[in-house]
Amino acid sequence: MTEIGKTAMETRPSVYILGAGMAGLAAAVRADKLGLRPHLFEATSHAGGRCRSFFEPGLDRTIDNGAHLLLGGNTGLFTYLSEVGAQDSLKPMDPVQFPFLDVASGLRWNLQPSAGRLPWWLLVPGRRVPGGRLSDYLAMARLARLDPNATDSPLTDFLDRSAPMFARFWQPLARAVLNTEAEDASAALIGRMLGETFLKGAEASRPYLAPAGLSQALVDPGVTHLAAIGQPPSFAARIKALIFDGTCVSGIETDSGTVAIADGAVISALPPGEAQRLIPGLEAPDQFNAIVNVHYRLEQADNAHRFLGLIGSAAHWVFTKGDVVSVTVSAAGTLADEPAERIASRIWADVAAPLGQKVEQIPAFHVIKEKRATMAQTPAQNAHRPGPKTGFDNLFLAGDWTKTGLPATIEGAVRSGQEAALLAAECTARRAI
Ligand SMILES: Cc1cc2nc3c(=O)[nH]c(=O)nc-3n(C[C@H](O)[C@H](O)[C@H](O)COP(=O)(O)OP(=O)(O)OC[C@H]3O[C@@H](n4cnc5c(N)ncnc54)[C@H](O)[C@@H]3O)c2cc1C
Repeated sequence: MTEIGKTAMETRPSVYILGAGMAGLAAAVRADKLGLRPHLFEATSHAGGRCRSFFEPGLDRTIDNGAHLLLGGNTGLFTYLSEVGAQDSLKPMDPVQFPFLDVASGLRWNLQPSAGRLPWWLLVPGRRVPGGRLSDYLAMARLARLDPNATDSPLTDFLDRSAPMFARFWQPLARAVLNTEAEDASAALIGRMLGETFLKGAEASRPYLAPAGLSQALVDPGVTHLAAIGQPPSFAARIKALIFDGTCVSGIETDSGTVAIADGAVISALPPGEAQRLIPGLEAPDQFNAIVNVHYRLEQADNAHRFLGLIGSAAHWVFTKGDVVSVTVSAAGTLADEPAERIASRIWADVAAPLGQKVEQIPAFHVIKEKRATMAQTPAQNAHRPGPKTGFDNLFLAGDWTKTGLPATIEGAVRSGQEAALLAAECTARRAI
């Protein structure tokens, strides 16, 4: 206790963080590290937002809302994990490789980045995409030099769409990283991702998976850390409105009452529609793409935790973990409007053979449709992303859809939260003078 009867935490400047997805959690944890007192408000009963695990009684298993692939180059995420003491919660895949199967031809290959920064692996048969040409690979370097926050252009401006690399590399990459068809995708966002991962070599490209689920690996450690510092998130605390006083936010209306802000700062880590509802005049992306995940429970466990990219299939990625197979369809379009049974049988028809299963025996399944999984990551939508500062002195923005220069991913969400926390710390220091 301090001499005036307050705990050390209670004497810190407050920051009010709205939304406990990965952006909000990262903002709250970084705010604590910067000497602020984080108050985190979440509308639902749990943290994690679009990145979460839950128990599915039909499968009798805990599953993720969607398989998430994380990479060694996700430096913001790994810093967050070490800040909450969970640096070992993700499992590195060893060796570093991305296996693919072309279902029409039966051709298989492994993308295997080499150790150093020089991408010589791009030229080595057996480590690269069959049919890849040097010109395809030079496009990677050109893309990596683009500035996502300056003028963006379509990915197809840089590529030969008739080359085998288009279907075998660029299309799966655009779907996996941008949740957008390569034909519509932003060149600068793909370029930034390549520059931070594949073009840095094997360690930055290394895939990481969450053995016990996304919540246990990424979300729960953040919530536990906040509880340990005496600032647990407030759940079932939907933000109804922000109260403005001139150029500042002076209050937050929640379902259970109004919170006065005084000299504190506010970080919105809400989805774009909610942020626009609360913040006057906010520009934000307004087109979204769906992701469909189908989880199947197999009769026999496959002990390896691995994944496979499928080319020429309705299914894009297959992840196996124990006796659960999770299949991802990104940029899912109208598939997300179909009934779950039809989706499950259509996807099973494509994945059964590669998994060594009988196509006529569909196992127990659970379909998850995330209709607004991410913003559509086109040049036009990228241009609508607002930066972390707003027109209000003590109000900052975080979220995967804000202008991070990164794709709308966990890494983008986490870095946006960390950046907003820094701005909030600077703001409270100014307001205290
Ligand atoms: C199926 C699927 C697969 C994905 N795969 C990958 C992947 O492989 N790799 C990757 O890096 N990323 C992936 N992503 C993207 C990743 O999940 C998101 O980029 C990230 O989780 C976004 O975090 P966020 O905090 O910005 O937003 P959100 O997770 O949307 O968090 C916003 C939070 O605000 C809360 N909220 C909303 N309204 C209010 C209100 N009025 N008051 C209080 N709280 C409110 C919400 O409940 C939510 O908890 C995937 C997404 C999905 C859906």
